Amino acid sequence: MSVEHPESAPPAPSDFIRDIVAQHVAEKRYAKIVTRFPPEPNGYLHMGHAKSICLNFGIARENGGQCNLRMDDTNPAKEEVEYVDSIIADVRWLIFGWADDCLGFKPKGAAPVRNESNGKLDFYLAPVPLDSGNTEPFFASDNFDALYAYAVVLIQKGHAYVCDLSPKETEEYRGSPDKPGRDSPHRTRSATENLDLFQRMRAGEFPDGARSLRAKIDMASPNIWLRDPLLYRIRHTTHHHTGNKWCIYPLYDYAHCLSDYLEGITHSVCTLEFEVHRPLYDWILGALDLPRALPHQYEFAKLNLSYTIFSKRRLLQLVQDKIVSSWDDPRMPTLSGARRRGIPASAIRRLATAVGVTKYDGLTDVAVYEHAVREELNALALRRLAVLRPVKLVLTNIPPDETIACEAVDNPQAENPVKRKVALTREVFIESDDFAEVPPPKYFRLKPGGEVRLKYACIIQCDEVVKDATGAITELRCTADLTTRSGGPNADKKVKGTIHWVSATESIDAEVRLYDRLFTVAEPGAEEDFKKFINPHSLEVIVAKLEPSLKGAQPSDRFQFERLGYFVPDAKDSTPGKLVFNRTITLKDAWLAKGPAPKK
Ligand code: ATP
Ligand code: MG
Repeated sequence: MSVEHPESAPPAPSDFIRDIVAQHVAEKRYAKIVTRFPPEPNGYLHMGHAKSICLNFGIARENGGQCNLRMDDTNPAKEEVEYVDSIIADVRWLIFGWADDCLGFKPKGAAPVRNESNGKLDFYLAPVPLDSGNTEPFFASDNFDALYAYAVVLIQKGHAYVCDLSPKETEEYRGSPDKPGRDSPHRTRSATENLDLFQRMRAGEFPDGARSLRAKIDMASPNIWLRDPLLYRIRHTTHHHTGNKWCIYPLYDYAHCLSDYLEGITHSVCTLEFEVHRPLYDWILGALDLPRALPHQYEFAKLNLSYTIFSKRRLLQLVQDKIVSSWDDPRMPTLSGARRRGIPASAIRRLATAVGVTKYDGLTDVAVYEHAVREELNALALRRLAVLRPVKLVLTNIPPDETIACEAVDNPQAENPVKRKVALTREVFIESDDFAEVPPPKYFRLKPGGEVRLKYACIIQCDEVVKDATGAITELRCTADLTTRSGGPNADKKVKGTIHWVSATESIDAEVRLYDRLFTVAEPGAEEDFKKFINPHSLEVIVAKLEPSLKGAQPSDRFQFERLGYFVPDAKDSTPGKLVFNRTITLKDAWLAKGPAPKK
């Protein structure tokens, strides 16, 4: 049903990271550019992640490269298979038709291959041809054997030691940015003793927190991340991917740089908070004296959107507290929420291009996102007639059983617009706010004695307002001037207002969910108690009247209900027997009229 529409093709973006990659390509530094997107499967992906996906896949796409999807799953306590599955689905959705041929998968079930032929310990993850049909993403946890072997090398080289300080003591010994740390009393253990203890940590001899493996770097370093950071800790916890095989788990900094190396990543692109970790990233790879080209880390500023929170911990709270129905509630800033709300993936990619890639943190006005959504939907959506808050209008000069076929346009912006028939009948519905009994100045819609055009049909005049005993309007009695129909003798007659309508006898009912911003303030995340900024009117459910052609609408279809906004059938709740539509977005920004928002 949806109109074919070529992907809007803005010029290839340019930014400081792409400039670096271009330089490397010019120098022929790498055989192939390989990036990665490494989410932790502890929640659903959100619009912030989309910025990173668009950047990493964009770089791969623009350079004939590859972008690996990797589950950064080193913390078993918070991770779940549900999240892994949702991440795969969301990434595929976002890049579909754009960069899906750059998505790098690992060989199914493959573990890193050990290689010692050059005298240095090395592991490879054999790359899979991109068209191999393989669909399993990389998992950092698939590298646990290799990471363990590398940890043994670090111990043997005197670069790591087993420490018995408790987590609290470790924290105290670390010092603070303006105060150097103190050496752990276990820092001088021999390699033999360290190897024995590390092996026993792995064997499960010690309880959680009893020991850890730490890098031996510099407790006086001005960079706190270099003060003998933890590499491994003990966690007797089942892991969603490795089961009970391990009771020691590597920390992010240790697992990340090595996973990048194993996969042959050339450019490891992450957000600014990791800038201070970069020396550690380089230190670990350097200390291992690895034989192949090393990956390098580059940092960019996160996306922050006004009226939105991105913290996965807080999004989880919204779900758990039933403030929203689920992670894919259309009000959530998640990719699954956006998809269910009818937002095209191309609109999210358009947003990523619009915000660009910089080194400076900022707050992007959510209006930039909404503009991108409207731009994409304007091109994609089929026009339909629907009335959200109906008032009945009786065209007294049309006989009850007469149906007048009018021609409506599906896609007025296309080169070859498609037309369809809509039925004008004696009784129609119009939007209740398209009638004003006491009209304000410059009101060009329907008023007593006034004229208005019913879109695609004809001009009507309001003769009489009928009310019930309470004074509520029950119907508007009007005369239709059928000579003003398209092709009629008075088709050119002009009136100031044109309104939408549906036939009262032919229209169908549908539940329509009207969404608004989830928060009332621009920066809801600025305070811990962010829930006090929830917009109590973020969801309104109504029963609307739709033109009958919408009966078979599918969640993959996109519609503009004329003069109202963009709508999509709800992928979870809409059935042929009971249609449910989500309002993706209004045609205009209603918040603009409200004036500048309070910061919090
Ligand atoms: P949490 O909310 O749990 O701190 P996170 O947002 O850091 O998690 P990850 O799963 O670690 O989530 O993120 C995966 C990747 O997405 C990382 O490379 C991270 O830098 C990037 N990313 C996360 N949030 C944003 C954002 N708002 N803008 C751009 N990139 C982001
Ligand atoms: Mg993170």
